[in-house]
Amino acid sequence: MTSSLEGRLRARIRDVPDFPRPGILFKDITPLLGDPDALREACGAMADAWRGARVTHVVAVESRGFLFGGAVAIGLGAGLVPVRKPGKLPYHCSREEYALEYGTDALEMHSDAVAAGARVVIIDDVLATGGTAAATRRLVERHGAEVVGCGFLIELGFLNGRQALGTRVESVLTY
Ligand code: AMP
Repeated sequence: MTSSLEGRLRARIRDVPDFPRPGILFKDITPLLGDPDALREACGAMADAWRGARVTHVVAVESRGFLFGGAVAIGLGAGLVPVRKPGKLPYHCSREEYALEYGTDALEMHSDAVAAGARVVIIDDVLATGGTAAATRRLVERHGAEVVGCGFLIELGFLNGRQALGTRVESVLTY
């Protein structure tokens, strides 16, 4: 990625202190989403990272992963699979629980969404601790599909999510 592209995208990420809780510096992507050129360039960079990786499915994580997952899937000529919070998907689901700072949360995927032979890239907007993407990876692998890697617009490098994931990680912007 050229540094001028990185600069253009960085200029459209807004830091919002203490959202949604005190102490969190929230990376607000809405200025980027609202800029046609930045949106196109961000989605293009997220897809370009996986060219040649023979990706068959993009698995996008609710909810901000959906904003990029569709464009990345189209860019790679892959299918799109939504992973959602419990109770949102209409058909038979597999569920994976994961630890939060306080308590647990869970994610669901349709049981027939991927199978052995699928080559999956997991897409979300932000990589923080990696807990969300790791749970998604377990969900995908339980069905015999291969996780080629995880792609993000933003990686919060100081939280070491990349190490926690233990798979190929591609992020457009690192903080
Ligand atoms: P984690 O499971 O810790 O990697 O958290 C990743 C999820 O939380 C992603 O779906 C992000 O959308 C969201 N997230 C975590 N930290 C931030 C942050 N500082 N700014 C924006 N979103 C965040």
